[in-house]
Parts: sequence; C-alpha cells; structure tokens
Amino acid sequence: MSESTPFPTPDGVLRQRSRGIARRAVLGTAVTASAIVATHGVPEASAQTATVVIKALPIDRANILAGSRFDFRVEVAGAQPDRIEITVNGQDADTFFKGANPVRTNEIAGKSGEVTYRNVTVANPGPVAVQVIATVAGRSYVDTFTWTVLRMGAGQARNVILFIADGMGYPTITATRIVSRGITEGKYDGFLNMDRMEYRGTVTTSGYDALVTDSANSASAYATGHKSVVNGMGIYEDNTKDPTDDPRVENIIELAKRTRRMATGLVSTADITDATPAAFAAHTRRRSEQAFVASTYLEDGHRPDVIMGGGSRWFLPKAQQGASADDRDLVAEFRAAGYAVAATRTELRGTPASATKLLGLFHTGNMSVWYDREETKNPNVLGKFTDQPSLPEMTGRAIDALATNPNGFFLMVEAGSVDKQLHPMDWVRAVYDNIEFDNAIGVARRFQEKNPDTLIIVTADHSHAMSITGTYTPYEGKIGPDAVGTYEQSAFPTFTRKRGDGFPDSPSTKTTLAVGWANHPEYYDDGTTVWAEPLGPSIEDPQVKGTYIGDPKRAPSGKGVLMPRTVPASVNSEVHTADDVPVMASGPGSEFFNGLVDNTDLFWGIVASLGIDPLSPNGRSPMGKITGGRFGDPANPASRPHFAKP
Ligand SMILES: [Zn+2]
Repeated sequence: MSESTPFPTPDGVLRQRSRGIARRAVLGTAVTASAIVATHGVPEASAQTATVVIKALPIDRANILAGSRFDFRVEVAGAQPDRIEITVNGQDADTFFKGANPVRTNEIAGKSGEVTYRNVTVANPGPVAVQVIATVAGRSYVDTFTWTVLRMGAGQARNVILFIADGMGYPTITATRIVSRGITEGKYDGFLNMDRMEYRGTVTTSGYDALVTDSANSASAYATGHKSVVNGMGIYEDNTKDPTDDPRVENIIELAKRTRRMATGLVSTADITDATPAAFAAHTRRRSEQAFVASTYLEDGHRPDVIMGGGSRWFLPKAQQGASADDRDLVAEFRAAGYAVAATRTELRGTPASATKLLGLFHTGNMSVWYDREETKNPNVLGKFTDQPSLPEMTGRAIDALATNPNGFFLMVEAGSVDKQLHPMDWVRAVYDNIEFDNAIGVARRFQEKNPDTLIIVTADHSHAMSITGTYTPYEGKIGPDAVGTYEQSAFPTFTRKRGDGFPDSPSTKTTLAVGWANHPEYYDDGTTVWAEPLGPSIEDPQVKGTYIGDPKRAPSGKGVLMPRTVPASVNSEVHTADDVPVMASGPGSEFFNGLVDNTDLFWGIVASLGIDPLSPNGRSPMGKITGGRFGDPANPASRPHFAKP
C-alpha cells in the first residue's frame, strides 16, 4: 500500500521514494515530462491535486513461490483514473500474465479504479518489478512494487507436523515448564517436549496492516508466506465489501494437494473453522465467516483428509441446531465423500483403523479446556459434552490416518484454548492446555523416532501480556499484590506431580506463580483463586452500555484488588501483544527455523523442507538449491548460513 502524491520532476528523471529512501527509476515512454511520481509510503500533501493512492496486491517486498497461484490486483484510490497501465518486468501485464483476462472495475463511484488478474503464476525465479501508471485528469501517477519469486531446492522432509499453541509467548512456556516439570535450586527438574527440539528461533508477528496481529492474519502468514490483515486469511484485502472475493494466495494445504498429492490434516481444540486452522485451507477477509469456511473444507483442492476439533454448528443445518452455509448438512456430505465421522471420544476410538479420511467434531463450539474436561469434569461447564477426546489423542489418530499416504503428509495441530484462556487472564487453564499441547508434541516426537523424514515445528501465532512477577505465598492475612514474593522472596513453587502425565496434582498449592498482565480491562485479582469454571474478567457497565468494569466474582474472597484498565473501556478482555514468539523445530529442514525469522518465513521453511515445486510435474524440485533470492533476513545472511547464497 502506498500513498501517492504529485511530485515535481525538475530534471525529467522520475524519482521514486521507497520506504523513505529516494531512488531513481527510469520509466517507459508512457510517462511524459509532466508526469507525477508516486511517493511510496511517504505522503506529501498538495493543495492543488488529489491524493492518489496506488496499491498493488501482493504488496511490495512480497515473496512468491515460483508456480504458485495467486490473484494480482491493482487499486487506485482517491480519484477515478482515466487509465491504469501496468507493466511487469517491463512487459505489459496482459502479456506477462497471458490468458488471465483482467477485470477492470470502479468500485467506489468517481473515486477509484481497479484491475484484477485471477489465478496467475510467475515461473521465473528472481525479482519482479511491477509498475503502475494511473492517469487522472491528464496527470500521471506512478508507483513501482517489487516481488521476489523463489524456487525451492530439493527437500529432505516427507512429512511436516506444525504445532501452534495460540497465544503462547515465552512467559506461557516458562510457566508451563515450572508447573509441569518443577524447578529446584534454580535448575529445572525436567524439560518440556518443545524444549527438546534441535533448533529454536524467534518469529516476528506483525501483519501488513498493523503492528499487533490476530490469529487469522498470523496463521495466514505461516500458511501462505504472505502477510495479511487483522481478521484476514489467505488473501490480500481489497476495497470491496464482499469478504470472500479478496485477492487470494495459495496456501500450504492447497499446494501440498495440488502439486504432490500429499495427505493433509487440521486438528484444533477450538472451532475447527476458527482463524488458525481456517487459514491453512480457506480464503476470507473476515474470520467470522465460519460457515463459509466449513463449506470450503468440502471443496476439492482445499479439502483436508483429517478435520478434528470443535465447531460442529458450522457443519450442521438448523434442524440439528446448526448454522451451516445454505442450511447444508456438511457432516452427511463428508460422510458421503468417504469420511469416517465421530462426535465423541468413544466414536473416535471406534473409527476403523483403516480410515484415512476423518471428520471429528466434538463440540458445537470450542472444545472444553483440559482442566474442566479431564480434571474437575465440572458438569456445569461440560454440559452434554462429557466425552471429548484430548489433543494428544486427536494428534495420534490424525497421524495414523495421514501416514498411510505414500506421498507424505502435512498436519497442523492447534492448542486453541491457550489463547482463549489467556484473554480472560486465567493462566491456570491456559497452562494446563499448554501442558496438553506439549503432550501432543510428545506423540509426534514418538512418530518421528520411527519416521525420521518427519519435520516437526512448534510455534505460537502471537503472545499475550502475561508475565511471571514472582511467586505467591499468602501469609499474615495478606492477599493480592501485598502477598507477591519478588526477587529473593520468590520461593520456588510447590506443585506436586504423582500422576506422571505432566500435569500437577492440583493447581492450588502453598506457593504458586504470581502472574501479572500488562494490557487488560478493569478486573479484580486476589492472586490464588482457581475459578470453578471459566470466567471473563469484566462485565458490562450497567451505567454505560458498551463499556466494561471488573467482575467481583473474580475475587470470591472479597479481598481482591481492583486493577485499573490499561486499554479502552470498550475492550472486555486482555489483548494480544506485538511481542516476538518462539519457534522450535526438529527433523529434516529444522535449520530453517533458527535465528530471527519473519512470520512469513515459516511457510518458506516448510516448502523448502518439502522441496515443493509447482513447476515440476511431480511437485518435487529437481533443483540443487533455492533460486531467485532468499527468504529470512536479507540484511544479515551470515546469521543464517543456509540462506547465504541466493
Ligand atoms: Zn486471541
């Protein structure tokens, strides 16, 4: 996206401002001496002329997999252009994208112009320069955008399992290790499965529209190698209202199926149509279009072989208390397409061992969290959902089904409720779900021992503002912040673990973690209460509709401290942060997940490890190495030796 404003060209040479750095661009004959050059990212106001914004999608600095499919769209905003001319590497775009039949529109009457090429590809690796000249009232506005087209080298991995704990920042991992393994005299009594991976890197999380990401946007970067916008997945945002027509980019499930006939699977404890899993198969500007996403899962080309999680309502018609698209019974349609279907843990265990296609929908909404599902089994929380499988169980069953495909598989496993419990600042439930997540990684690690051509990647999509302040030992009648032990008073926690399954015997113990939060609505905190059921931090203010105040139920002791809000009163839960998150990897290709990586680089690490090459008839790259450029940090190739030689 760039802001383009008139800019004099005294010497007849057009100047282009790109990210604040002036550079020269010698343009074609279409531009006359009176041409006006767009300022790319640096707006310059002018009273006499309209501010014309030229946008190219994919955006400037996008990396594109050679032979992958994407929609190319140019939008001119601020005025209705008389003409939009586009060249790609100096060639007319219609010629460059031969046979693509561009559609020209004026979406906002009198104020915009668009050109859209659907389903195009670029075969030649290397830089691609897109130049757009928009003519408005006789004046030309120019902007250029550069993409890098990359072709992968031969890959070493046959299978990829990507684990995402939604919202799992470093403090969540630390808390999980303390609670699950224990710590004595400063040394951990054991490590998590995710701690025992060969490589560990750091992932940046921002989308292209905003500093702080949501799960759609972030998973989309992992799934497609392209950044997106908050609430968007598999798309670049366009200027139309329809949330399903935005320019698309191909995702890893589509690529794995189309080019390699690999098996693919999605497993989550959230609605299986929720942002994180949906980004791996679907395309929409609005993540709330979950009925649309569910119907996408049934379409050829996007259809994962294994789909397991919550959210059955999006697959069922009204007559079965569902809210599916066009009132379809998608469960019946999946069954007709050869899927074994399960609605409970018992039914999942009863699916035939030979079943390679599975649809498991174990809750109408998000699945219950481990603490309620397996520890307290609180009937008030579970309702009729008393027989839900665990994440390790679903992971194991998914791997069994997918591993039968001779072409290998791609599986994404999400612990969705780590995020969904961090939002209401319930660190106990979040950590229990993260222990469950780590146990699911253990299942994959055991598979990997027997199948060493399997790459396992573990990451989060963003972090939360959770922080371990110290520990908490209520004493002398003190409670809340007064009882937090800081520095030398932060005694080691006293969780016990008799079961040997990674979970503590109880979350309530003499010395527990003191957890603080940086960005939250008003809430009450008394430090140690573990609520009998999941509880939001705030309630709607009866005085001012649409604003939120602390819920005294959060401190049933009556001694809670009221924590003043640090976000607008309209926000009713703790919010995501812009923090970097960790990535851990083990197996062939794991070295790609090291050092500082952009969130889009996770996609590149996956396709590089598999050697996915849409240009080869069998989808396997015959090339010795990555060509066209490199992903990772171009400014510091030395930090990541395998990217050093483009
Ligand atoms: Zn979230």
